[in-house]
Amino acid sequence: MVIFPFRNKNVCRVTKIYALKDDRYKSGKHNGIDLVSDGSRDVLAISGGSVIRNGYLPSSWGKYIVIRHKDGKSAVYAHLSESKVKLNQYVVEDENIGVMGSTGNSTGSHLHIEIQNKYYTPSDTSDIAEYLGIKNKVGKVEDVLQTELVKIKTPKGQEFAIEGINIEGSNYVKLRPVLEALGFKVGWENKTVIIEE
Ligand SMILES: [Zn+2]
Repeated sequence: MVIFPFRNKNVCRVTKIYALKDDRYKSGKHNGIDLVSDGSRDVLAISGGSVIRNGYLPSSWGKYIVIRHKDGKSAVYAHLSESKVKLNQYVVEDENIGVMGSTGNSTGSHLHIEIQNKYYTPSDTSDIAEYLGIKNKVGKVEDVLQTELVKIKTPKGQEFAIEGINIEGSNYVKLRPVLEALGFKVGWENKTVIIEE
């Protein structure tokens, strides 16, 4: 389970995407994603783990924290104005570990967050956007909606599966394929679904 690094995702923006090609970086690409919170500046641990770095790199990450998760991957939180953790400390998911800032090589207040597959191998990173379940796209943070097959059973014993999505505990399926599977014709006019036999 991974949570978003700011309390209110709806007031957050992506300002630089993961894997953006840029020769200023040693690996030739942006290894993380840049996020700006227009609400609370508190940075939350996206997953529990041990603090394996709590340092300062003036020409790059500024004030930064590295937390190693149980899956062996490490999350880097950079450009912080303040760190609230100690080296070797164990933090839990959702714990406030620092404050968004603009320390190090940064032109404005933001959080650079990246996932290193092994401890301190900066060129070997995972797609942090995928890790967080958000779109790797500049602008307002948007969730990636995962579709899954939802089984439909009717009183007549018909059974079939339709692609659906689950949002905050509710299942959503498209009406048209359901009705068509039941043998109806479906039309659409002025926000009205017209069902014909
Ligand atoms: Zn960045």
